[in-house]
Amino acid sequence: MQKIIAANWKMYKSRQEARKTAVDLRGMLAAEDLPGKRVVIFPSFTNIPDVLDVFAATPCVAVGAQNFYPASEGAYTGEISLAMLGDMGVSQVLAGHSERRHLLGETDEFVARKTSFALNQGFSVMLCIGETLAEREAGDLVRILSRQTGSALADLPEDCLARLSVAYEPVWAIGTGKVAGPAEVLEAHAAVRSRVVRILGDAGRNVPILYGGSVKPDNAVTLLELDNVDGLLVGGASLNAESFMQIVRA
Ligand code: PEP
Repeated sequence: MQKIIAANWKMYKSRQEARKTAVDLRGMLAAEDLPGKRVVIFPSFTNIPDVLDVFAATPCVAVGAQNFYPASEGAYTGEISLAMLGDMGVSQVLAGHSERRHLLGETDEFVARKTSFALNQGFSVMLCIGETLAEREAGDLVRILSRQTGSALADLPEDCLARLSVAYEPVWAIGTGKVAGPAEVLEAHAAVRSRVVRILGDAGRNVPILYGGSVKPDNAVTLLELDNVDGLLVGGASLNAESFMQIVRA
């Protein structure tokens, strides 16, 4: 399986900064041969057209959106539809990122609606799941991951599974500098894999599971070597082209 290295630029970068980072990255990618890697960049909505433009002729890079609303159209002030994203040339979205769950109140039920809506509309979805520190300390890791995975992946049509990936991102490791240790990542990814296979059957073995949470150039190799780690979702360290590229090379 190709490793997916994804960049979440969150609510950072002006248009000019996004274009510059993308151009720098394109230059570095063009200078190397990395056949086992696929890169996905999730810029802010307003920066998507510039980043798409920069990577228009770079097939190993896809550009996705960090969010969308699960309805075709309607009176949803401030929201964006998949049709609008599709119009720009986007075909990938994130769903269930911990910042949307914990800062913006997205529930498991809403994340499930978003996941199935986007997959049914032909989009690729990177479903983000992960436990809080309190949940981990209460011994609830497997129960939380099972609940988040189970609700989002119930009743998905089989023909959309090739467009699904899952990102395990412990909430306590996102943006904190605290990366989960190898044993913690192994345990969580094994639990997610077994849950995904239980829900989706054998097709679940091919669903990429990414790790996210304070990934940096110096821990990327170790993480990518672990069983069931099929890629990385990178926030802070993806904002700089050189540090992100070191992770892509890992
Ligand atoms: C993220 O935003 O998905 C993330 C993992 O952020 P960071 O790498 O900064 O922890």
